[in-house]
Amino acid sequence: MIIVLKPEATKKEKKHIIDRIKELKLTPRVLHGTERDVIAVIGSESIISQLPLEVFPGVESAMPVLKPYKLVSRKVKPDSTVIDVNGIKIGGGKTFNIIAGPCSIEGLGMMRNIWKSIQQTGIGIMRGGAFKPRTSPYSFQGMGKKGLEIFKKIKKEFKISVITEVMDTKDVELVAKYSDILQIGARNIQNFSLLKEVGKCKKPVMLKRGMAMTIKEFLMAAEYVLSQGNFNVILCERGIRTFEPLTRFTLDISAVPIIKKETHLPVFIDPSHGGGRWDLVEPLSKAALAVEADGIIVEVHDNPENAVSDGEQSLRPYKFNEMVEKLRKTAEFMGKEIC
Ligand code: PEP
Ligand code: MN
Repeated sequence: MIIVLKPEATKKEKKHIIDRIKELKLTPRVLHGTERDVIAVIGSESIISQLPLEVFPGVESAMPVLKPYKLVSRKVKPDSTVIDVNGIKIGGGKTFNIIAGPCSIEGLGMMRNIWKSIQQTGIGIMRGGAFKPRTSPYSFQGMGKKGLEIFKKIKKEFKISVITEVMDTKDVELVAKYSDILQIGARNIQNFSLLKEVGKCKKPVMLKRGMAMTIKEFLMAAEYVLSQGNFNVILCERGIRTFEPLTRFTLDISAVPIIKKETHLPVFIDPSHGGGRWDLVEPLSKAALAVEADGIIVEVHDNPENAVSDGEQSLRPYKFNEMVEKLRKTAEFMGKEIC
């Protein structure tokens, strides 16, 4: 059930409604909109419908939610969610965020090199994996905590924000100490214990769509995080499995406008994993901007030939810089700032 409050609803009226919901052993979640708040009631519709909500002072309307996802639904919160990452706004249509960096953190020198050679673009968030979900147990598994320590130094040196993947529930607290955004990878996105754990955390979370996941399942994964009280979720389309062998995955570009219609959460594209080829990164990034994605997350490596992971889909810094300048022109035309 969704309870839409009147813009002038008082704190006391809101508290009274919340108390009555709790008396029924249901969970109220308050979503703050620009003009009014809404209260989403988690639990059985038949129990909450016992309350004549419309007669409560401060209530404008109450409606059952027929979709399986509630908190992520745009019906519940019509205005787009804007997430603030150390001053950088994600979502809301005024920005096009570009997150860039290598697939894996390989050392302090390479991280410094990469950022130094792309910082002229003015972007403010770097990516890099410390815990790597590799298909083979014999492949490089990531630098772990040492990688996080490198990110700490990079953050301080360049005054930027960072995103890195968390793979295990036991590492959520640790990764949250170092990273400004927690990434949940395509292979882990239906690890519901992990989703609940990052949901209890205050840091923004980027969820990458599973390679065999429907859009509805993707939104349900986000619902897990929101249901625990963390509303700062970014959804990232990163390609799905199809029969096409010329690309690593098939980037499902239509997922962006569908998801944006269904949910208020920001939506990103990963043009690197989406195609699995560096030469597709620019066209797919242009497509991301064209379908009004809120941003992209791009793999950039200073020595892709010798990268420990995903070298074939990584852009060299100069190529990345060229691409950003092309995107900037279109973004400006669309009234969006690249950051
Ligand atoms: C990554 O970002 O390096 C990664 C492993 O992504 P995904 O989970 O989308 O495969
Ligand atoms: Mn990668």
